[in-house]
Order: sequence, then structure tokens, then C-alpha cells
Amino acid sequence: MKILRKIRNYYFYCGIEKDEYNAVKKDAYISNFKVWKILHFMMAGVFAVLCLASFFNDLMAMNRLLYLIAFLYSALASVAFIVLKKDSLIAQLMIYLSMSLLFLFAALVNLNKVNYNATTFIVLLVLTPMFMIDKPYFMTIELSAASAIFLIWMHGIKPFEIWQIDFVNAVAFTVVGSFLNIISNSLRIREFVLTRQIRIQKDTDEMTGLRNKGSLTREINEYLADDSTDKGLLFILDVDRFKSINDTYGHDVGDSVIVQLGRFLAGRFTGDEITGRFGGDEFILFVRDTDDTDLARLVARDVIAGVSESVKLPDEKEKLSISVGIAPYNGTEKNYSELFKKADVALYKAKAGAEERFCVYG
Ligand code: GH3
Ligand code: MG
Repeated sequence: MKILRKIRNYYFYCGIEKDEYNAVKKDAYISNFKVWKILHFMMAGVFAVLCLASFFNDLMAMNRLLYLIAFLYSALASVAFIVLKKDSLIAQLMIYLSMSLLFLFAALVNLNKVNYNATTFIVLLVLTPMFMIDKPYFMTIELSAASAIFLIWMHGIKPFEIWQIDFVNAVAFTVVGSFLNIISNSLRIREFVLTRQIRIQKDTDEMTGLRNKGSLTREINEYLADDSTDKGLLFILDVDRFKSINDTYGHDVGDSVIVQLGRFLAGRFTGDEITGRFGGDEFILFVRDTDDTDLARLVARDVIAGVSESVKLPDEKEKLSISVGIAPYNGTEKNYSELFKKADVALYKAKAGAEERFCVYG
């Protein structure tokens, strides 16, 4: 059973688990896109040269029209790859189309020399699988279909002895090509998995699992820089008298307060809000697409009450209190630190206030 599962994983998910594969699928698409963009440009160049050379070489002259069509296709495809989105499904399908057309090209070239074995075709069977990261069974289907069509087509057209050798070669190199595809994919997909893990680690606050300072700064900066949006609400949340919690109950309890607070925020804000731990006992919440200060007050009240309800301290009668500073964004602030300063001023006022534990800037 274990070996069957392994084979399935190699055939369907490049040797890793399904979830892992799905998480890095887009990275693989982008990699395919970059490689095939270059390949299409190269193909256009090579076919242009072959086309020109066919005017000076009699043997090549019979393929001139094929070279020309291949050049035109590659040139068009190159343009398409400038316009297409890197991780789009259309781009991936187009790569399979190009691959199929390359096989067709090889078959047509061979048709002009039926007394020879199909060398170009065989070379393509071994080479193309190296340049495509996808579920390996797709490639097996692609290669098998190309070989089968080629062999059926050439049967009766080519001399039988030549066809027999083509048959053996096509079958053998379809198998070799498929295996090369599995091997190269499983090696490269691991690279994507590792890169993804490093990226997640780099962006995650270890204690709460929320975004860390670097990730928060980057994401909010990206949002502020986006011209299509000019509304947002930045909240800074800071635990009141956290030092005294540490002093009274010890650091472990202090840590558990941070963890519980993180869990509360992660559970409460599950939409497209940006939440994270800025550092120490300070958390950030960023709400997109609104600068409604009434809504901001509502959210602040809700969070303050929710935290006091859900975060448990050793002395159950004691409730955790936090203060919230809010800065509405309405398109004027150019970066996160400008907005952060305003929310920090508001936080300072909230801390100094006797009643409400929140304050909106301005
Ligand atoms: P204020 O009401 O003005 O916010 O006072 P405060 O005591 O909460 O002071 P402040 O926010 O400036 O202090 C944060 C303290 O949090 C300082 C540091 O000792 C403590 N701290 C920072 N990171 C951690 C941590 O990861 N775990 C624990 N247990 N304590 C931390
Ligand atoms: Mg504090």
C-alpha cells in the first residue's frame, strides 16, 4: 500500500503530498511560464535562421514552408507570452499546444524523408519533458499520444523496416521521457516547497502564528501604494500594564497572554483584514476599504470587550485590558510609518484617557 501511495504521489503530485503540491502549484506555473517564454523566443530565432538557410541548402529547401510556419507560430506565441498572466491556466495550456505542435513539426519534417528514422521526433520526446513542471501524468499522456499518433500515421507511409525502428524508439523514449519528467519535477518541486516554507517562516510571528512586523509593514505598504484604493483603518492594540502581568505572574503567563490574544484576533478577523503582532505586547489590525470612524469605534469596543472576555489570567476575577489607537487612512499617507505614527499618537491618548480605552486620531 505504501509503495502504491508513493507511486501515486510521484505520478500526480511530483513526489510530494497533494496539499503541499497545491500550495506550490502556482510557483510551478510561473516557472514554466518563464522557461517557455524564453524557449518560444529561441524557437522563433532558430526557425527564422532555418528558414533563411533553406534558401542556400537544397536539402533544407523542402522544409522551407514548415520552417516558415513554425517561425510564425513561435513569434506569435512569444507575443502572447508578453501579454499573458504568468500564473494563468491559458499560458500552461499554450505550452502544451506548443509542445504538440513541435511534435507535429518533427513528424512533418520526417515525412519529407520517409526512408530515414525520425530523429527530431525522438530528440523532442526526451527533451521537452525537462522543461515542464506539472502533474507528471499529463506529460505521460502528452508523450504517449504524440508517439501513438505518429506511429499510426507513419504506418504504411514509411518502409516497414524503418517504421519498426521508429516504433521501438518511440516506445522506449516515451517511457524514458516520462521518467525524466518525474525525476526532474520531483527535484524542482522540492525547491518550491522549501522556498515557500522559508517565506512563511520569515513572515510569521513564532509565538502567535500571526504576521510579524516585516510582513505587516510590507503588506500594508503595498495596500497604501495601490492607486485603486484610498480607504482603510489602522488599529494598534497594546496590552495595558503588561509589565506588571509579567512581574506578578511570571513571564510564562505573560507569554500565554500574548498567545491567547493572537488566537482571539485570528478567530475574530478571518476576512481580508490584515492582522499581526508588531512586537512585544503590541498588535496591528488593518481593515481595508473603509475609513468610517463610527465603524472603527464599533470594532475597537468589540475587540476590547472580546479580549477581556476571552483572555484568561491566573486570577480569574482579573480581566485583561487593552488600549486601541486608530488612524483612518484616506489616501493621504504615502507609507505605513506615516499612518502608524498617527495611530500611535491616538494610542497614547487612549492610554491616558480615564474611561474609553480607544481613541481615533484627529
Ligand atoms: P502600558 O500600559 O503603557 O502599555 O504598559 P506596559 O507595561 O504594557 O508597557 P509596554 O507596553 O511598554 O511594555 C511591554 C512589555 O512587554 C515590555 C517587555 O518586558 C514585555 N514583553 C515584550 N515581549 C514579550 C514577550 O514575548 N513575552 C513576555 N512575557 N513579555 C514580553
Ligand atoms: Mg503595553
